[in-house]
Amino acid sequence: MPHTHNITLIPGDGIGPEVTSATVAILEAAGKSTGVTFDWHTYDAGADAFAKTGEYIPKALYDSIEQNRVALKGPVTTPIGGGFSSINVTLRKKFDLYANFRPIKNLPGLKTNYPNIDLVIFRENTEDLYSGLEVMINPDIAQSFKIITTKGSTRIAKSAFDYALKHGRKKVHAIHKANIMKLSDGLFLRCCKSVASQFPDVTYAEHIVDNTCMQLVLNPYQYDIILTENLYGDILSDLCSAFVGGLGLVPGANLGAHCAIFEAVHGSAPDIAGQDKANPTALLQSALLMLDHIDEAQTATNIRTALDRVYTEGKTLTRDVGGTAGTRAFSEAVIAAL
Ligand code: ATP
Repeated sequence: MPHTHNITLIPGDGIGPEVTSATVAILEAAGKSTGVTFDWHTYDAGADAFAKTGEYIPKALYDSIEQNRVALKGPVTTPIGGGFSSINVTLRKKFDLYANFRPIKNLPGLKTNYPNIDLVIFRENTEDLYSGLEVMINPDIAQSFKIITTKGSTRIAKSAFDYALKHGRKKVHAIHKANIMKLSDGLFLRCCKSVASQFPDVTYAEHIVDNTCMQLVLNPYQYDIILTENLYGDILSDLCSAFVGGLGLVPGANLGAHCAIFEAVHGSAPDIAGQDKANPTALLQSALLMLDHIDEAQTATNIRTALDRVYTEGKTLTRDVGGTAGTRAFSEAVIAAL
């Protein structure tokens, strides 16, 4: 029986439209053999949306996510040091997408300095220094508020441990800086410890974030699941992406109780935007997480097999992973391999 999914699509800006259209083309091609079709509800966000509608996140976009409960999102540029608030952070907070799930795994055939990486990051997605609460005390003193709550910390810890149990993972490391931020990171750790006590079969450990950066580079294999706050999770995600070939590869899911938004770890990469250079693999792998989420595992498996074949053959890879192919040629190769 053919099955149509209503999905909110945010192409974003920078390399967003290129990686999004490549991903959509691959999903639609794969759906032909499994009887899955997609009704994409497409919206701008950020500066492009403001130019057209006078709103950075149009109400129609909010309504669409509310209704469809699933969105696939390209990167949206956040102005540095001023301008409008991050669209990514705003959407995560609006829909209470508290768990940012980022699996880091090598692709077959793609040689890196770190083979056989298989770790998962659970990043708290709605609190911490990303709460957006900042004030100028006077022209020379700025203050940003770091918000950590029992509710926010407990539910991200629960997500990480539930995932560990479901997927047979052995170890969860809570990453913190509670030696300096004794109250906020101290509360985060107490919540993690309390959740850990309910999961006796999963080993629990705590590492300080700066040491974690060194430990990751020396020996990433000691980590299985990384459980951390918003800012540390943002930084560690980019670091860990380098183990498997960089930001062009690593997917992400923003998960809440009612909605989910799937997006790559990378940003809008203005340095390569509009040049057919971007690697769409990160967004494609985010779309595979989305397919699993909407119970279309067969379509996801078919795409995964095709993607693995393209990487194993290594003939049509993008520049960021040592090839010479453009975004379009790469996506055509994946479609041909389907
Ligand atoms: P943000 O803070 O918005 O997440 P960022 O600071 O992490 O963004 P990116 O926009 O992700 O920065 O870009 C970082 C570097 O990685 C740039 O050199 C960019 O070209 C490269 N990069 C990011 N995404 C891709 C991609 N999909 N394909 C190829 N290169 C990419």
